[in-house]
Amino acid sequence: MALRYANWRKLLAPAEVIGAGTIGTGAGPTILLGGKVVQCQLVHSRTGRRLRIKVKPDGLEVIVPEGRTDDEALAFVMANQAWATEQLARARKLAALRRPEKRAQGHVLFKGESLPVRVIRSEDWRAPNRVSLEDGQISITCAPGHSTLPARSLENWLRKQARDRIEHHLEAVAKRIKRSPRRVYVMGQRTKWGNCSGLGNLSINWRLIMAPDHVLQYIVTHEMVHLAVPDHSQRFWLTVQSLCKDSDRARQWLAAHGQKLMMDLEDVLAVRSPGGSSQ
Ligand SMILES: [Zn+2]
Repeated sequence: MALRYANWRKLLAPAEVIGAGTIGTGAGPTILLGGKVVQCQLVHSRTGRRLRIKVKPDGLEVIVPEGRTDDEALAFVMANQAWATEQLARARKLAALRRPEKRAQGHVLFKGESLPVRVIRSEDWRAPNRVSLEDGQISITCAPGHSTLPARSLENWLRKQARDRIEHHLEAVAKRIKRSPRRVYVMGQRTKWGNCSGLGNLSINWRLIMAPDHVLQYIVTHEMVHLAVPDHSQRFWLTVQSLCKDSDRARQWLAAHGQKLMMDLEDVLAVRSPGGSSQ
C-alpha cells in the first residue's frame, strides 16, 4: 500500500497519512482511517519486539521497536485499518458512556438545569455554612473547621427551595379544588415522588426541586387531587389534567430522567472537597 504524506485536501482514500507530526515530541501524524481523521502517535520502544497498535478513545498509539521505521509503523496501521477502525469506534463509545458520569460531578440539577456547585472554605467565615445561588452557580461557603458537611448544607438548602415551590403549587391547587391537606411533609425517600395518606396528609419528595418546575407541579397536583378522589379513576386523571396541563410531559420526564434525581450529593461534592480547599 502506498503511503503518502500528502496535502489532506487531496485525500479521498479511506486510509492515508494526512499530516506528518514531529517524531520525538510525541505528536504523531494524523491519518485518515475509515473516513475519519485519527491521531496516530508513534512510540519508539527499546524493549518492544514487534509493531503493536494500542487503541485509545482519542487515537492510536503504535509501539515501534528498535530497527523498524516510522513508515513501516504506519504501513502496519494501514494493513490493520479494519480492525483499528472497529476498535476505535468501540473505545469512543465506551468513553462517551463514561463521560456523563464525570460531568455530573461538581454539578447538581436544580429546576431542570445542571448547575455547577463550588465549595468555598473561608478562614474568616464564622457563621454556619451558607448556600447561595448566583449567576447560575451554587456556592457553599464554610468555615474550615465547621462540623456540618457541605453536602448536608446543600441538601438542607434544596429542601428549603423545594418546600417553597411545593407551597406555591399547593396553594394554587387548593384554591381550585377547595381542599387543603392537614399536613405537608417534605420527604427524602428514594422510592416515592409523593403520597397522600388516608388522613389527608401530603408527602412530597424534595428531590423534585431538581426536576423542571412543571414536574414538581404535576406531583403536587396529583397528590392534592387525591384529597378529593382517592383512586386513579378517569375522574381523577381528568381533574389532574385540567389543573396541570403539563401532566403528560411531566410523567414522561420522570420516566426518562427520574433516576438522575437520586444523585448522591456527597458524590457531587467529592471532587471538590477531599479534605482540602477549593475555589
Ligand atoms: Zn396517585
